[in-house]
Amino acid sequence: MTTIEGTRPDVVRTVKYPVYERFYTWQGEGVHLGRAAYFIRLYGCPQACPWCDSAGTWHKDYRPEGVTLMTAVDLATMVAQDSPDGAFVVITGGEPILFNLGPLVNELHALGRRVHIETSGIAELRGNIDWVTLSPKPFGTWPTPEVVARADEVKIIVHDVADIQAGLDTLTGLKPAAVIWLHPEWSKARERDAAVLNAITDAVKANPRLRAGYQMHKLYRAD
Ligand code: SF4
Repeated sequence: MTTIEGTRPDVVRTVKYPVYERFYTWQGEGVHLGRAAYFIRLYGCPQACPWCDSAGTWHKDYRPEGVTLMTAVDLATMVAQDSPDGAFVVITGGEPILFNLGPLVNELHALGRRVHIETSGIAELRGNIDWVTLSPKPFGTWPTPEVVARADEVKIIVHDVADIQAGLDTLTGLKPAAVIWLHPEWSKARERDAAVLNAITDAVKANPRLRAGYQMHKLYRAD
């Protein structure tokens, strides 16, 4: 196994990640929409977005009874067992950037899997991640310039019209090739909130670099 520079292999192999859930499905949003993907959702997030759709990963009213501590080797074994070669892996949360993802990424690369992360970008990004989806959050901490510079795509969640400009204002240093999505926050999408949907349409028409997005996987759920 390739190790993080300067870290002893025996130490790297004992790092444990708090796994809230893991499942094999397809990517429901962004550039890789519709592709088979294995999701690893880690526990813990300090951002406290009031509309968080995965609050079980951090909110005090939810008991983390389902959290399992797993090593990188454990997780890679599960990925290999539960998904076929070619399915990429998405590490999400919660806020996965809180953890040293290097050992996990190395194990997944050893399997031949590409590794994506979904993050609000609030800390140092550790690990040789193949694809970075940055979702800046207006309720807690804005992304660091280093993560902005590494982002391959950006997902701005639009709950209020002002969230569009607030999100764009965080993107100084973004790669020219990075895609910027504007997603209606899910309750606004479900209610077909005219103010939010029209604001996204107007923003995309005014700036062709932006794309109107949607969380397609939620259309496939019965709730
Ligand atoms: Fe939820 Fe993501 Fe916000 Fe954390 S950053 S509170 S996981 S929506």
